[in-house]
Amino acid sequence: MDGKAEPLDAIIVGAGISGLYQLHRLREMGMRARVIEAADGVGGTWYWNRYPGARCDIPSMSYSYSFSPELEQDWEWTEKYPSQPEVLRYLEHVADRFGLLRDITLGTRVTAARFDEAAARWTVTTDPAGELAARFLILATGCLSVPKLPEIPGLDRYRGRVHRTARWGAGEESFDGLRVGVIGTGSSGIQVIPVIARQAAELTVFQRTPNFSMPAGNRPLDPAEVAGMKARYRQWRQAQRASGFGMPSDPPTRSALDVSPAERDAAYQAGWDRGDLTSLIRAKIRATVHDRDLAEALSPRTFPIGTKRPCLDTGYYATFNQAHVRLVDLRATPLAEFTPAGVRTSEREHELDAIVLATGFDALTGAIAAIDIRGQGGAALADAWRDGPRNYLGLAVAGFPNLFTITGPLSPSVLSNMMVSIEQHVEWIADCIAALAAAGRRTIEATERAQENWVRHVAMVGAVTLFPTADSWYMGANVPGKPRVFLPYLGGVGEYRRKCDQVAAQGYRGFTLA
Ligand code: FAD
Ligand code: NAP
Repeated sequence: MDGKAEPLDAIIVGAGISGLYQLHRLREMGMRARVIEAADGVGGTWYWNRYPGARCDIPSMSYSYSFSPELEQDWEWTEKYPSQPEVLRYLEHVADRFGLLRDITLGTRVTAARFDEAAARWTVTTDPAGELAARFLILATGCLSVPKLPEIPGLDRYRGRVHRTARWGAGEESFDGLRVGVIGTGSSGIQVIPVIARQAAELTVFQRTPNFSMPAGNRPLDPAEVAGMKARYRQWRQAQRASGFGMPSDPPTRSALDVSPAERDAAYQAGWDRGDLTSLIRAKIRATVHDRDLAEALSPRTFPIGTKRPCLDTGYYATFNQAHVRLVDLRATPLAEFTPAGVRTSEREHELDAIVLATGFDALTGAIAAIDIRGQGGAALADAWRDGPRNYLGLAVAGFPNLFTITGPLSPSVLSNMMVSIEQHVEWIADCIAALAAAGRRTIEATERAQENWVRHVAMVGAVTLFPTADSWYMGANVPGKPRVFLPYLGGVGEYRRKCDQVAAQGYRGFTLA
């Protein structure tokens, strides 16, 4: 791969939802762009996370691209919440339909990128060895794409099978007759545990922090419902873009205290049945899990609801009623080490034939930090972000001209239906690049002042909420040594879009164009 022979307008890192759409959008503008993707296929999250039970928890007809009304009409989703294979099939279809693969290099990791000031160009280094250069560098590297291993010694000594939910390979499905241990009870653990319980001879769940989970209520889509959505898709998409989290909802019209207890309970029950009510969770755990102590151990107590990402599940709590399923409460007996035969807690050794690690991600900054990025004067992004990410609008970094991040830190990102946030960033970046070309400018760079103000604004909005009180991955708290900073922007998808559009309308206020 030698970019000198083939000058590019843009290099896009990552071929997930973000990278695929960014490529399509830039090509439509007549630009030459190339995507570099570490995986051997497209799809990003939905390529890597093939664990049994993996499923989207935003309804399929909302977790889908809106940029092509024809695609929207042609694609037939089969379930309310699409399974991982269905989302992956959809993204492969998009890559195929828009002829994207010819501009995607698979199986190749970007390891470094440096900005050449004289040429106003980014040069990117890859593994396997290669180099290519382009005016713009767009990081579509994903918010949840760098898996995190548990911080416990001895994994290399363990002799059984090791599976990672975030790197699930083909043929890893069967746990028939095995003694299996699952470490981690976040969204991934909560999805995989009920499925493995159906296969394993014994299942031991190692739980450090119990999570809030609600029944997903997944079901096949009704043809009339699909037709109805397809008929009003344009209005729906508009409402998504203007909403708080990328999912429109009707605001409540009455206080819970204004209605009778019976009416209130019926409304709560209806909410529970729909899978979108949170206040009854602890009571529901007690009602579902037969053993009182076990129910209590599964009940979250240490953080306010919503300050860690709530989970949707299919039969999670009921799984613990099965005789062959056991919970080990790591708050009482912490994990000490992996042993050749299994894992040892402070209490005893657990012998296991297979261990499933559902231990999360180095979220939002992990994939960016994994690339050695050098901006003006050779300055390293790693140094600029030593105390936490600093950028303007969650899109651009002072000192790093012509570099953009899609749904990176300090943007709504993971606090939204990601599809909506991804489309907004891709379109803003494409429009910005077009505006720059139209103005005959070569570079665009966030000013230090605009960046300072943005970082302060994001922190201020986060600080008036309960989010910073939880040890969550939103705060970087799950990765030892990572600075504690509230990483996503809580201002809401619609309001954030308005701010970004305003900056563009005002000639890219807060940026220097040269
Ligand atoms: P990704 O899909 O993460 O793609 C990034 C790609 O960049 C990856 O393929 C990676 O290999 C590649 N890459 C990274 N670094 C490099 C490098 N240096 N060189 C080359 N390639 C590189 N969001 C929702 O809104 N709703 C959901 O229900 C939902 N469910 C999820 C379920 C799981 C299991 C996970 C992990 C995440 C989920 N998310 C969900 C978040 C999800 O990540 C986003 O919705 C979306 O898929 C992100 O797309 P992306 O293209 O931005 O990033
Ligand atoms: P996660 O939410 O970070 O959960 C990781 C789990 O592993 C937590 O229970 C954590 O415990 C535990 N853990 C980590 N290190 C450990 C250690 N050293 N010892 C013991 N336990 C350890 O990760 P995730 O489940 O992969 O989910 C990440 C995000 O991906 C989600 O929040 C969501 O945004 C997305 N996702 C969505 C879906 C979906 O339903 N659509 C599915 C999967 C993932 P602590 O809580 O104590 O740290």
